[in-house]
Amino acid sequence: MLITTTRTFTFKCSPSSFTSFARSHMDSKPKTLVQCAFMSSASRSPPREACVNDPGNGSISLQEWQGWGTTSPVPAMVTKIVEELKALETDIDAPMSFGGSGGKLQGYFKVQEDKKHRATYQALCDSEEKLQFFSARQIACRLLGSRGYLCQKCWLPLEDCMCSRVIPCNLWHGMRFWLYMHPKDFLRQNNTGKLLWQVFGIEAATLCLYGIAEHEEIMWSTFKDAGKNNVCCLYPNKNALSKSVQDAFGEESSADQKCRLMMTNGDKTMNFILIDGTWSNSNAMFSRLKEQAKSIWGEEDFPCIALATGASAMHKLRPQPSWDRTCTAAAAIGLLSELQLLPVFSSFGLDKLAEAVEHALVVLLEALTARRLRMGRCITRRVRHNSNIC
Ligand SMILES: [Zn+2]
Repeated sequence: MLITTTRTFTFKCSPSSFTSFARSHMDSKPKTLVQCAFMSSASRSPPREACVNDPGNGSISLQEWQGWGTTSPVPAMVTKIVEELKALETDIDAPMSFGGSGGKLQGYFKVQEDKKHRATYQALCDSEEKLQFFSARQIACRLLGSRGYLCQKCWLPLEDCMCSRVIPCNLWHGMRFWLYMHPKDFLRQNNTGKLLWQVFGIEAATLCLYGIAEHEEIMWSTFKDAGKNNVCCLYPNKNALSKSVQDAFGEESSADQKCRLMMTNGDKTMNFILIDGTWSNSNAMFSRLKEQAKSIWGEEDFPCIALATGASAMHKLRPQPSWDRTCTAAAAIGLLSELQLLPVFSSFGLDKLAEAVEHALVVLLEALTARRLRMGRCITRRVRHNSNIC
């Protein structure tokens, strides 16, 4: 099973080496958990009880919440669900127990909590309330299950922390990334969106959790101030053709003047939304972005760009653990590389920024591979379980 990882680790990113983010989503199939035949239960993460590093009352403090990579207040609904989980623990006199990489509940507590949260979910009439409950519950469980187990910065188990190997650098002031992340990707070890704020910092690459009101309000408030022309999503718009990077920002395009403004005026930051979720989840996430855009700007269309197609970097990464083709870091690398090729952007060193993300991606890949090998797991591709909890 020792595959030739060395070759994979030295892949060189160029714009042509990326399948478009759009296409990688469109090609993806719904996923099921495929595990290696020899993977024994002994090689999985041991069950963990939620009391590890528990400050006492079980609540999530502001410091703990922000430590995971955000500047927002603790979401009110997450706090409420954590309190309910702790209350249930007392009521049924069974400890909350977590296992696996996703911080999933286990055992008797899980059975009881399943019944309870399903009933709560069913009782909600409004789809917005259902989404917010679903997201907050996912986040709450992951926070409790990962407490004291994962490094807050790199979301890897503490013994596999890769933080010391990541080289931070400043993103060009004319752009900002927004990682619009599905709750099921939050605190996932093999998530790659987190690499962007590890490299660029949480102000330049900001986490926005789907369905978490506090996060979405911060993001949309920024977009409202920035104006529609300074927001764009790296995802295909199904109702209108997504523009290529060249069309959207190239020198010959109508956006040329705006690009010049961006270079001379520090206030004109371009906001790029990267959708960080599986293919099936991404459709719902994009729909929500469009709805929110319409409510603010009153227009149906939402500015979108797609990367140029080519051989997928993910194709090279595919033999690696737990990887799929919806790799958010690769989308960011592709965007930076394609912008670098446009004369108007060529002097900002975006190629160096792409290399910095690429380096972090390689470091993550090595850390995940080393962990799987150490735990006796195979390192061929494993795809994600896709069942819905709610
Ligand atoms: Zn770390």
